Amino acid sequence: MNRIQISILISVFSLVISCGTAPVKPDTTNTPVIDSTHQEVYQCPMHPNVVSNTKGSKCTECSMALKKVK
Ligand SMILES: [Zn+2]
Repeated sequence: MNRIQISILISVFSLVISCGTAPVKPDTTNTPVIDSTHQEVYQCPMHPNVVSNTKGSKCTECSMALKKVK
């Protein structure tokens, strides 16, 4: 094994180690933030009269997914 092969092997190895032991960044986006003062409103794009406060709600008229308006 020549020096180039060894240096490549070492760099690849250190890359794998640095990736494997890299500190995991705290995922703040995944943390549910409950804000009771801010209530979200979801509305059907086709039926503005159909509104809901629940995420993932579907329109009672056309079963479309409601879109967030507030
Ligand atoms: Zn609808």
